[in-house]
Formats: sequence, C-alpha cells, structure tokens
Amino acid sequence: SSSDIQANNSEGNLRSPICCIMGHVDTGKTKLLDCIRHTNVQEGEAGGITQQIGATYFPAENIRERTRELKADAKLNVPGLLVIDTPGHESFTNLRSRGSGLCDIAILVVDIMHGLEPQTIESLNLLRMRNTEFIVALNKVDRLYGWKTLRNAPIVKALKQQSKDVQNEFNMRVTSVITQFKEQGLNTELYYKNKDMGETFNIVPTSAISGEGVPDLLLLLVQWSQKTMIEKLTFKNELECTVLEVKVVEGHGTTIDVVLVNGVLHEGDQIVVCGMQGPIVTTIRALLTPHPMKELRVKGTYLHHKQIKAAQGIKISAQGLEHAIAGTGLYVVGPDDDLEEIKRSAMEDMESVLNRIEKT
Ligand code: GDP
Repeated sequence: SSSDIQANNSEGNLRSPICCIMGHVDTGKTKLLDCIRHTNVQEGEAGGITQQIGATYFPAENIRERTRELKADAKLNVPGLLVIDTPGHESFTNLRSRGSGLCDIAILVVDIMHGLEPQTIESLNLLRMRNTEFIVALNKVDRLYGWKTLRNAPIVKALKQQSKDVQNEFNMRVTSVITQFKEQGLNTELYYKNKDMGETFNIVPTSAISGEGVPDLLLLLVQWSQKTMIEKLTFKNELECTVLEVKVVEGHGTTIDVVLVNGVLHEGDQIVVCGMQGPIVTTIRALLTPHPMKELRVKGTYLHHKQIKAAQGIKISAQGLEHAIAGTGLYVVGPDDDLEEIKRSAMEDMESVLNRIEKT
C-alpha cells in the first residue's frame, strides 16, 4: 500500500550512526571523548546521554540542545549518535561486523601545534582503505598563544573574539595542516569554508579542554552521516552485532559487551557466539545498559530491557560465555534458521580475528 511505501522511505526509520575516534598518541582523543560526553553533565543536565558499555549514546535531542548556538535548524533525522569509547586503531580495525567496519564515520584527531604525525597517516590510510567517512578535529586550539577561552562555543564565534595575533597564528597553522594533508593526496578545508564537501574533507578546530568547536563537531558528524549514508543508516531487521569485550560482573557472571549495529535483540533470544572451544549456543538472560549519566554514581546497577533496537551498546548476561572471543559476531537463531549453519558462520569469525592478530 502507499502508506507502506511511505513508511519505507521515511527517515523515521534510520538507526544512529556509529562513530569512532582515531589519531596519533597525545593528540587528545581521550580528552575529546570526555569533553563530548561531559559538557552537559558538568552543568548538571545529563540531557539523556547514556554512557553505555563500550559506547556512549547521544540522543538527537541532546545534540540539538548543545548545538543551538550554531543556529542550524537543519533537521536531525537520525535518533542519535553512538560513539565508541575506545580511542585508537583497535576500535577501528579489530571491531568488525560481517567483514565491514563497525564504524560509519570517524573523527581523526590532529594536534594543531604538531600537524600530521606518523599515526595520523596510519589512521588516514586505514580510513581510506575502508572507504570510511571522517572528519578532522584540529585539536588544542586553546594552546595558541593568547587564546581567550569561550567555553563550549561554536568555533567561528570563538575565533572572532581572538586577537589579530591569535587569528594569524591560527590561519598559518591551518594552512600548514591543509598542505600536509595535500601531500598525502587529500583535500581538506575548514568546514565552514568548505564548498565542496564531497571531495574535500572537513576540518573542525576544537579544544578538548575548553570545548570550543565541540558543538560544531557533533553537529557535523550527525549531519554528514545522515546526508551521505541514508542507505547504510536505514534500519534493517537483519541482526548485525559485534562482541566488544568479555567481562566478569558481580551478580551476573561472565557477560559480553556488544555493539548492536542493526536489528533488535530480545531477552530470551537464542544466540550463538564464537568461543575458544567451539561455538557457544546460549540464551539471553538479561539485556543490560547502565543508568543514564545522572545516575552513574549508583554503582553496579544496570537497567534491564525486554528488547533493544539498534544502534546501541549493550551488556548481555547469559550462561556459558566464559570462552567467548571479542571482535567476533553475535548471531540470533530464528525459528526458521539452521543452527548448524549459524554455528559455522560464528566460527568463521574466529579465523578473521586470528588473521588480524597475526598481522599486528
Ligand atoms: P590521546 O593519547 O590522544 O588519547 O590524548 P589525551 O586525551 O590523553 O591527551 C594528551 C594530553 O593532551 C593530555 O595531557 C591532555 O590533557 C592534553 N590535551 C588534550 N586535548 C587538549 C586540548 O584541546 N587542549 C590542551 N591544552 N590540552 C589538551
């Protein structure tokens, strides 16, 4: 029927993009994650952010609130943004689902005082090899000599209030970074000057200490994802789920932390994960997420869910997970599925994990 077609085309059925953060050591990846997560918490409003397991989820409403000053009335069509908490190569290379990368988009952090460094170039090559979209965060702008702090301000506003000297140094350093990217065969430009976003990658100047440019980064991540990846971000029922970590938790035994990329998980689902001694077939006892930010201090307690829809970070409690292997896929056995076939698929993931370990 026509209403079905509308439903299929509707942007209401998008999942949240999954974002990871990469770059050279000490460029501020961890600090930037902290800053992205904590801005509102410091001001006493959690704004619905939940630091999940291995990932932090930002509802669209939170992003809208934090980017208000940018006066972007552009629609946010995705439900939110899921940011993977582990910075660096591992989260990008080791975590895959069904052969493709886990991350839809990446933040490539560059220190404005240092420019491109060896691991920046490594990250860049990984991103290009996988054809992954990314945004450059040109971090530590507050280290420009004489920088006046304007906490969590949009970057253009923050730059306007700087002295001529600071602005000159900023321009000089940006030009130098753009040249260095060019030497790597990549066109880049400050995002607010970028007239050719398809071919030219965006640079967002940021400070992970005082938050300038962070609203810009958040908004651009979401807008660029929903602009260029509608198909990839359209919610699919077919399950796509990756095991991030295997952990013993008091009161729950051995649990697995997963990122659910697509599909829905239910309490009671029969699942198959790759194990050291063969496939593990078990039943989801509990689907858990931590409490929203405000209540994170309540230690060791989790929210229980009957079902969870992608994209989310989730802790799964079930029997027999002791030998589960991180980096592999999680499969659900449906009523019409062939269990043996699913077991084989689950174990195939082990080979690719071992291959990756050998290479590193
Ligand atoms: P990572 O190795 O990329 O995760 O880098 P970290 O987040 O650990 O940061 C490395 C150092 O740089 C720490 O001392 C941070 O406090 C500092 N740092 C990170 N971001 C900024 C920034 O925007 N401005 C300034 N001044 N220092 C920063």
